[in-house]
Amino acid sequence: MTGSDHHCARCGWPIDQPFQVLSRHRTSEGLVTYTRCACGLLRMHLTPATSTI
Ligand SMILES: [Zn+2]
Repeated sequence: MTGSDHHCARCGWPIDQPFQVLSRHRTSEGLVTYTRCACGLLRMHLTPATSTI
């Protein structure tokens, strides 16, 4: 069990290098990015909004 959260559990694709970016949505919590893995698995990633000025 080494760094399984950085690679897809199904195909081993590096998660920080998305195979395909489906869409991006700006929300009050930050930027939500939907990506699809090389194996077809859908993944959601939230980038927290840092600009609170
Ligand atoms: Zn995968």
